[in-house]
Amino acid sequence: KAKDRGRNTYQFYTNDMTEKAYERITLETQLREAIVNREFEVYFQPQVNINDNKIIGMEALVRWNHPQTGLVPPGKFIPLAEDTGLIVEIDRQVMQDAMKQFQKWIDLGLDVGVLSINLSMIQLNHEDFIEFVKTTIKNAKISTDNLMFEVTETQVMKNPKQAIFMLQQLKDIGIRLAIDDFGTGHSSLSYIKRLPIDKLKIDQSFVMDALVDKDDRELTRAIISIANSLNLEVIAEGVETKEQAEFLVKNGCVEAQGYFYYKPLDVLTLTKELTKS
Ligand code: C2E
Ligand code: MG
Ligand code: MG
Ligand code: MG
Repeated sequence: KAKDRGRNTYQFYTNDMTEKAYERITLETQLREAIVNREFEVYFQPQVNINDNKIIGMEALVRWNHPQTGLVPPGKFIPLAEDTGLIVEIDRQVMQDAMKQFQKWIDLGLDVGVLSINLSMIQLNHEDFIEFVKTTIKNAKISTDNLMFEVTETQVMKNPKQAIFMLQQLKDIGIRLAIDDFGTGHSSLSYIKRLPIDKLKIDQSFVMDALVDKDDRELTRAIISIANSLNLEVIAEGVETKEQAEFLVKNGCVEAQGYFYYKPLDVLTLTKELTKS
């Protein structure tokens, strides 16, 4: 009897595992097809100066236009894409499309500021990455003055020495760098000082609760003062209310990104938004 029960439990367990594994394999197969068919679409979220609401830049955010299920957010496929290495090709398509589109806006005479592109560290470890970046910039005819790359603090801290080495090569070709989701990655101040970076992006979890939670408020203030004392730019992510924006300005952070200003928008909608006046 115990044996039967054991077997049933075991079988239940394997069925469950099989289903998960099956889901993963399906998703992986679909991601491979999505890469071949270029099903990814770049959305852009404007970033603003809180004092005058002027756009200072835009972050490129990938969406997957799935033929059956429609628009899939990055949280649903980036983790698997990173596990399987498929993120490398996805990020390259995003980089090509984002730079081309951004240069189109610049050519239209629009004030779009600096384009921010998210990079996976896996991407950075590819040996031909720098060559790819140079070629993509050349093809898009965009100036590095208009470019910034973002890497998350967590990914940088997984291998800080390698990160410094790779980020320095990007700096050397004139690209500015930001540390994304700052405050969540447990980096030490001594490392931040050694990173060849230009900007800290305060993680949205702190910003969103800054007015209701004392710890988040203090952390937000602390990150702003770290940025100021290390001579780094600082931007707050996830700004959803006027009160949050006012709190930020009062504490020395003038750049913001969040639903209070703009949601991530598709190219057509954003172009209309930028050209209306
Ligand atoms: P992230 O780089 O930290 O991007 C900010 C995320 O916060 C975006 O989510 C954006 O839509 C969301 N957001 C912005 N303002 C607000 C707000 O006021 N309220 C709320 N609730 N959310 C806000 P999204 O587009 O779902 O992207 C999630 C993450 O996926 C990104 O976080 C980034 O780490 C990753 N990601 C997105 N695009 C790419 C890409 O092309 N390549 C790579 N490697 N990662 C990407
Ligand atoms: Mg980002
Ligand atoms: Mg972030
Ligand atoms: Mg994030």
